[in-house]
Amino acid sequence: MAFWEEKTLEQMSTAEWEALCDGCGRCCLIKLEDEDTGTLITSDVRCQLLDGDTCACTDYPNRQTKVPDCIKLTIDNVREIPWIPVTCAYRRMAEGKGLAWWHPLVSGDPNTVVDVGVSVKGRTFLETEVDPETWEEHAVDWPEYEPPEVL
Ligand code: SF4
Ligand code: SF4
Repeated sequence: MAFWEEKTLEQMSTAEWEALCDGCGRCCLIKLEDEDTGTLITSDVRCQLLDGDTCACTDYPNRQTKVPDCIKLTIDNVREIPWIPVTCAYRRMAEGKGLAWWHPLVSGDPNTVVDVGVSVKGRTFLETEVDPETWEEHAVDWPEYEPPEVL
């Protein structure tokens, strides 16, 4: 049985915890705050360290030094941060849903997370190349959907 099927988040090793990420890149998008309501809106602007094609952090070991507001997901905060997408592997595990069929660990194919539209690959703009005056135009209602069981 695979480790994600027999272990809880609490029981996983550091390597297993890290392997759980599906690489969608959605948690590395800049959040915009509605000044009137305080509501956080996700944008299509990516963190300066996120590679827009691989959706990987380009300096993962030093990410919190270089990007002070980079949030390190933990067993505790993954249950508390409201903007973690419903598709996120950590959130799914915390909610007892297990990994979806399109998760690369399950499918064996790193592209299935792209094929179902969960990945932000090729759909974002780099933070340092976006005029702050235009950020409101980058508010994106990324789908909070559960991809279909099969495509
Ligand atoms: S949203 Fe979750 S699964 Fe996607 S990149 Fe972030 S931590 Fe990984
Ligand atoms: S520093 Fe890296 S892990 Fe943190 S938000 Fe930016 S790209 Fe994502």
